[in-house]
Amino acid sequence: PAEDIQRARELVAGAGRLVAMTGAGVSTDSGIPDFRGPNGVWTRNPGAEKLSNIRDYVASKDVREQSWQARVGHPGWHAKPNRAHEALVELERDGRLSAIITQNIDGLHQKAGSDPERVIELHGTMFETVCLSCAERRDMREALDRVRAGESDPPCLACGGILKSATISFGQALDTEVLDRAKTEAMSCDVLLAAGTSLTVHPAAGLVGLAASAGASVIVCNASETPYDSAASAVLRGPLGDVLPALTRS
Ligand code: NAD
Repeated sequence: PAEDIQRARELVAGAGRLVAMTGAGVSTDSGIPDFRGPNGVWTRNPGAEKLSNIRDYVASKDVREQSWQARVGHPGWHAKPNRAHEALVELERDGRLSAIITQNIDGLHQKAGSDPERVIELHGTMFETVCLSCAERRDMREALDRVRAGESDPPCLACGGILKSATISFGQALDTEVLDRAKTEAMSCDVLLAAGTSLTVHPAAGLVGLAASAGASVIVCNASETPYDSAASAVLRGPLGDVLPALTRS
Protein backbone atom coordinates (compact mmCIF):
# COMPACT_ATOMS: atom_id res chain seq x y z
CA PRO A 1 0.00 0.00 0.00
CA ALA A 2 1.04 3.60 -0.70
CA GLU A 3 1.08 4.53 2.97
CA ASP A 4 3.51 1.70 3.68
CA ILE A 5 5.94 3.05 1.07
CA GLN A 6 5.66 6.50 2.58
CA ARG A 7 6.18 5.19 6.10
CA ALA A 8 9.13 3.07 5.00
CA ARG A 9 10.78 6.02 3.26
CA GLU A 10 10.41 8.12 6.39
CA LEU A 11 11.86 5.38 8.56
CA VAL A 12 14.84 4.96 6.25
CA ALA A 13 15.39 8.71 5.96
CA GLY A 14 15.23 9.14 9.74
CA ALA A 15 17.29 6.13 10.71
CA GLY A 16 20.41 6.76 12.75
CA ARG A 17 21.55 3.18 12.53
CA LEU A 18 20.07 1.02 9.85
CA VAL A 19 20.74 -2.67 9.33
CA ALA A 20 19.72 -4.59 6.21
CA MET A 21 18.98 -8.28 6.39
CA THR A 22 19.01 -9.87 2.93
CA GLY A 23 18.11 -13.22 1.42
CA ALA A 24 18.07 -15.02 -1.89
CA GLY A 25 15.41 -12.65 -3.28
CA VAL A 26 17.91 -9.79 -3.71
CA SER A 27 19.89 -11.97 -6.12
CA THR A 28 17.11 -13.40 -8.31
CA ASP A 29 17.43 -10.44 -10.72
CA SER A 30 21.11 -11.39 -11.05
CA GLY A 31 20.09 -14.81 -12.36
CA ILE A 32 20.55 -16.80 -9.15
CA PRO A 33 17.29 -18.56 -8.29
CA ASP A 34 16.02 -18.48 -4.71
CA PHE A 35 14.80 -21.59 -2.88
CA ARG A 36 11.16 -20.89 -2.11
CA GLY A 37 10.04 -18.25 -4.63
CA PRO A 38 7.87 -19.21 -7.66
CA ASN A 39 11.00 -20.17 -9.66
CA GLY A 40 12.86 -21.39 -6.62
CA VAL A 41 15.20 -24.36 -6.75
CA TRP A 42 13.08 -26.28 -4.25
CA THR A 43 9.78 -25.15 -5.70
CA ARG A 44 10.80 -26.67 -9.04
CA ASN A 45 12.71 -29.66 -7.72
CA PRO A 46 11.90 -30.65 -4.12
CA GLY A 47 14.59 -33.40 -4.22
CA ALA A 48 17.31 -30.73 -4.39
CA GLU A 49 16.79 -30.08 -0.70
CA LYS A 50 18.87 -33.22 0.01
CA LEU A 51 21.94 -31.51 -1.41
CA SER A 52 21.68 -28.88 1.32
CA ASN A 53 21.69 -31.30 4.24
CA ILE A 54 24.98 -31.95 6.02
CA ARG A 55 24.07 -35.49 7.11
CA ASP A 56 23.46 -36.66 3.55
CA TYR A 57 26.58 -34.82 2.37
CA VAL A 58 28.79 -36.63 4.88
CA ALA A 59 27.08 -40.01 4.45
CA SER A 60 26.81 -40.20 0.69
CA LYS A 61 29.51 -39.93 -1.97
CA ASP A 62 26.71 -39.71 -4.49
CA VAL A 63 25.28 -36.59 -2.83
CA ARG A 64 28.76 -35.02 -2.70
CA GLU A 65 29.33 -35.73 -6.40
CA GLN A 66 26.01 -34.11 -7.26
CA SER A 67 26.87 -31.14 -5.05
CA TRP A 68 30.21 -30.61 -6.78
CA GLN A 69 28.57 -30.80 -10.21
CA ALA A 70 25.98 -28.24 -9.07
CA ARG A 71 28.76 -26.06 -7.64
CA VAL A 72 30.71 -26.08 -10.92
CA GLY A 73 27.60 -24.98 -12.81
CA HIS A 74 26.41 -22.45 -10.19
CA PRO A 75 25.14 -19.20 -11.77
CA GLY A 76 26.90 -17.24 -9.01
CA TRP A 77 30.32 -17.47 -10.67
CA HIS A 78 29.31 -15.10 -13.45
CA ALA A 79 26.49 -13.16 -11.77
CA LYS A 80 26.51 -9.38 -11.62
CA PRO A 81 24.94 -7.29 -8.86
CA ASN A 82 21.55 -5.70 -9.61
CA ARG A 83 19.65 -2.57 -8.58
CA ALA A 84 18.74 -4.03 -5.21
CA HIS A 85 22.41 -4.50 -4.27
CA GLU A 86 23.22 -1.05 -5.66
CA ALA A 87 20.51 0.62 -3.57
CA LEU A 88 22.15 -0.75 -0.42
CA VAL A 89 25.53 0.60 -1.56
CA GLU A 90 23.92 4.05 -1.86
CA LEU A 91 22.53 3.82 1.65
CA GLU A 92 25.98 2.99 2.97
CA ARG A 93 27.50 5.96 1.11
CA ASP A 94 24.94 8.17 2.89
CA GLY A 95 26.51 6.94 6.12
CA ARG A 96 23.40 5.35 7.57
CA LEU A 97 23.79 1.66 6.90
CA SER A 98 25.82 0.05 9.66
CA ALA A 99 25.67 -3.54 8.39
CA ILE A 100 24.24 -5.94 5.86
CA ILE A 101 23.42 -9.27 7.44
CA THR A 102 23.04 -11.61 4.48
CA GLN A 103 21.95 -15.20 4.13
CA ASN A 104 23.40 -15.18 0.63
CA ILE A 105 26.62 -16.92 -0.25
CA ASP A 106 27.09 -15.27 -3.63
CA GLY A 107 29.30 -12.29 -2.66
CA LEU A 108 27.14 -9.90 -4.72
CA HIS A 109 26.89 -7.22 -2.01
CA GLN A 110 30.68 -6.96 -2.01
CA LYS A 111 30.81 -7.03 -5.83
CA ALA A 112 28.29 -4.17 -5.91
CA GLY A 113 30.62 -2.09 -3.73
CA SER A 114 29.33 -2.60 -0.19
CA ASP A 115 32.19 -2.43 2.31
CA PRO A 116 33.17 -6.10 2.89
CA GLU A 117 33.75 -5.23 6.56
CA ARG A 118 30.07 -4.39 6.90
CA VAL A 119 28.77 -7.49 5.16
CA ILE A 120 28.05 -10.29 7.61
CA GLU A 121 27.77 -13.57 5.72
CA LEU A 122 25.62 -15.65 8.05
CA HIS A 123 25.62 -18.70 5.80
CA GLY A 124 29.20 -18.49 4.61
CA THR A 125 30.62 -18.03 1.13
CA MET A 126 30.74 -20.12 -2.04
CA PHE A 127 34.17 -18.68 -2.86
CA GLU A 128 36.01 -20.87 -0.37
CA THR A 129 36.16 -24.54 0.57
CA VAL A 130 36.46 -25.95 4.07
CA CYS A 131 37.63 -29.40 5.16
CA LEU A 132 35.11 -31.08 7.42
CA SER A 133 37.97 -32.85 9.28
CA CYS A 134 40.85 -30.37 9.66
CA ALA A 135 38.87 -27.15 8.95
CA GLU A 136 41.46 -25.89 6.48
CA ARG A 137 40.02 -23.24 4.17
CA ARG A 138 41.10 -22.73 0.60
CA ASP A 139 40.09 -20.89 -2.53
CA MET A 140 37.11 -22.59 -4.18
CA ARG A 141 38.71 -22.19 -7.62
CA GLU A 142 41.26 -24.85 -6.73
CA ALA A 143 38.55 -27.44 -5.93
CA LEU A 144 36.54 -26.55 -9.03
CA ASP A 145 39.64 -27.05 -11.19
CA ARG A 146 40.08 -30.49 -9.65
CA VAL A 147 36.42 -31.38 -10.31
CA ARG A 148 36.71 -30.20 -13.92
CA ALA A 149 39.88 -32.30 -14.25
CA GLY A 150 37.94 -35.42 -13.27
CA GLU A 151 37.93 -35.70 -9.46
CA SER A 152 34.23 -36.20 -8.79
CA ASP A 153 34.57 -35.79 -4.99
CA PRO A 154 37.90 -34.07 -4.31
CA PRO A 155 39.28 -34.81 -0.81
CA CYS A 156 41.12 -32.26 1.36
CA LEU A 157 44.71 -31.91 0.14
CA ALA A 158 46.01 -31.43 3.67
CA CYS A 159 44.42 -34.40 5.48
CA GLY A 160 42.29 -36.38 3.03
CA GLY A 161 39.04 -35.38 4.79
CA ILE A 162 35.75 -34.54 3.14
CA LEU A 163 35.87 -31.19 1.38
CA LYS A 164 32.86 -28.89 1.14
CA SER A 165 32.05 -25.38 0.04
CA ALA A 166 32.36 -22.99 3.00
CA THR A 167 28.60 -22.52 3.14
CA ILE A 168 26.20 -23.54 5.89
CA SER A 169 24.03 -26.55 5.07
CA PHE A 170 20.93 -27.54 6.99
CA GLY A 171 21.97 -29.33 10.16
CA GLN A 172 25.24 -27.38 10.37
CA ALA A 173 25.82 -24.80 13.09
CA LEU A 174 26.51 -21.22 12.15
CA ASP A 175 29.90 -19.75 13.01
CA THR A 176 29.33 -18.38 16.52
CA GLU A 177 31.49 -15.28 16.00
CA VAL A 178 29.60 -14.39 12.84
CA LEU A 179 26.24 -14.98 14.52
CA ASP A 180 27.27 -12.90 17.55
CA ARG A 181 28.24 -9.99 15.30
CA ALA A 182 24.86 -10.22 13.56
CA LYS A 183 23.03 -10.27 16.90
CA THR A 184 24.93 -7.21 18.12
CA GLU A 185 24.01 -5.34 14.93
CA ALA A 186 20.37 -6.43 15.14
CA MET A 187 20.08 -5.31 18.75
CA SER A 188 21.72 -1.94 18.22
CA CYS A 189 19.94 -0.71 15.07
CA ASP A 190 16.88 1.52 15.07
CA VAL A 191 15.59 0.29 11.70
CA LEU A 192 15.91 -3.22 10.34
CA LEU A 193 15.23 -3.60 6.63
CA ALA A 194 14.56 -7.22 5.67
CA ALA A 195 14.74 -7.72 1.90
CA GLY A 196 14.22 -10.76 -0.31
CA THR A 197 13.99 -13.32 2.43
CA SER A 198 11.11 -15.63 3.34
CA LEU A 199 12.32 -15.33 6.99
CA THR A 200 11.77 -19.04 7.54
CA VAL A 201 15.36 -20.18 8.12
CA HIS A 202 16.57 -19.99 11.72
CA PRO A 203 18.55 -18.60 13.45
CA ALA A 204 18.76 -15.98 10.66
CA ALA A 205 15.06 -15.13 10.75
CA GLY A 206 15.10 -14.79 14.54
CA LEU A 207 17.36 -11.75 14.20
CA VAL A 208 14.34 -9.79 12.99
CA GLY A 209 12.46 -10.60 16.20
CA LEU A 210 15.57 -9.75 18.20
CA ALA A 211 15.80 -6.32 16.55
CA ALA A 212 12.09 -5.67 17.09
CA SER A 213 12.19 -6.59 20.77
CA ALA A 214 15.21 -4.33 21.22
CA GLY A 215 13.06 -1.47 19.90
CA ALA A 216 13.89 -1.31 16.19
CA SER A 217 11.26 -0.61 13.54
CA VAL A 218 11.08 -3.38 10.97
CA ILE A 219 10.51 -2.93 7.24
CA VAL A 220 9.79 -6.10 5.26
CA CYS A 221 10.38 -5.99 1.49
CA ASN A 222 9.42 -9.36 0.06
CA ALA A 223 7.18 -10.56 -2.76
CA SER A 224 5.54 -13.24 -0.62
CA GLU A 225 4.31 -13.28 2.98
CA THR A 226 6.74 -13.71 5.87
CA PRO A 227 6.09 -14.67 9.51
CA TYR A 228 7.27 -11.18 10.53
CA ASP A 229 4.86 -9.13 8.41
CA SER A 230 2.54 -8.49 11.34
CA ALA A 231 5.42 -7.19 13.49
CA ALA A 232 6.59 -4.83 10.72
CA SER A 233 5.96 -1.08 10.54
CA ALA A 234 5.81 -1.35 6.74
CA VAL A 235 5.46 -4.28 4.32
CA LEU A 236 6.37 -3.81 0.65
CA ARG A 237 5.62 -6.53 -1.89
CA GLY A 238 6.93 -4.96 -5.09
CA PRO A 239 9.98 -6.25 -6.97
CA LEU A 240 13.13 -5.38 -5.04
CA GLY A 241 14.76 -3.81 -8.09
CA ASP A 242 12.09 -1.10 -7.84
CA VAL A 243 11.32 -1.07 -4.13
CA LEU A 244 14.84 -0.69 -2.71
CA PRO A 245 15.90 2.18 -5.00
CA ALA A 246 12.57 3.92 -4.28
CA LEU A 247 13.08 3.51 -0.54
CA THR A 248 16.59 4.80 -0.42
CA ARG A 249 16.30 7.73 -2.81
CA SER A 250 15.87 10.83 -0.70
P1 NAD B 1 13.98 -18.00 0.21
O1 NAD B 1 14.10 -18.64 -1.12
O2 NAD B 1 13.41 -18.76 1.32
O3 NAD B 1 13.12 -16.65 0.08
C1 NAD B 1 13.37 -15.70 -0.92
C2 NAD B 1 12.18 -14.76 -0.92
O4 NAD B 1 12.45 -13.70 -1.83
C3 NAD B 1 10.88 -15.42 -1.38
O5 NAD B 1 9.92 -15.24 -0.35
C4 NAD B 1 10.50 -14.67 -2.65
O6 NAD B 1 9.11 -14.42 -2.72
C5 NAD B 1 11.26 -13.38 -2.53
N1 NAD B 1 11.71 -12.80 -3.80
C6 NAD B 1 12.41 -13.43 -4.78
N2 NAD B 1 12.72 -12.56 -5.77
C7 NAD B 1 12.19 -11.35 -5.40
C8 NAD B 1 12.17 -10.06 -6.00
N3 NAD B 1 12.80 -9.81 -7.16
N4 NAD B 1 11.52 -9.05 -5.35
C9 NAD B 1 10.89 -9.28 -4.16
N5 NAD B 1 10.89 -10.49 -3.54
C10 NAD B 1 11.54 -11.50 -4.15
O7 NAD B 1 15.42 -17.43 0.56
P2 NAD B 1 16.06 -17.04 1.98
O8 NAD B 1 15.03 -16.50 2.89
O9 NAD B 1 17.29 -16.28 1.68
O10 NAD B 1 16.47 -18.47 2.59
C11 NAD B 1 17.01 -19.45 1.74
C12 NAD B 1 18.37 -19.99 2.11
O11 NAD B 1 18.98 -20.29 0.87
C13 NAD B 1 19.32 -19.07 2.77
O12 NAD B 1 19.78 -19.78 3.85
C14 NAD B 1 20.46 -18.81 1.78
O13 NAD B 1 21.69 -19.09 2.41
C15 NAD B 1 20.28 -19.81 0.69
N6 NAD B 1 20.34 -19.31 -0.72
C16 NAD B 1 21.23 -18.34 -1.12
C17 NAD B 1 21.25 -17.90 -2.44
C18 NAD B 1 22.24 -16.83 -2.84
O14 NAD B 1 23.31 -16.73 -2.26
N7 NAD B 1 21.90 -15.97 -3.83
C19 NAD B 1 20.36 -18.42 -3.36
C20 NAD B 1 19.45 -19.43 -2.94
C21 NAD B 1 19.46 -19.85 -1.61
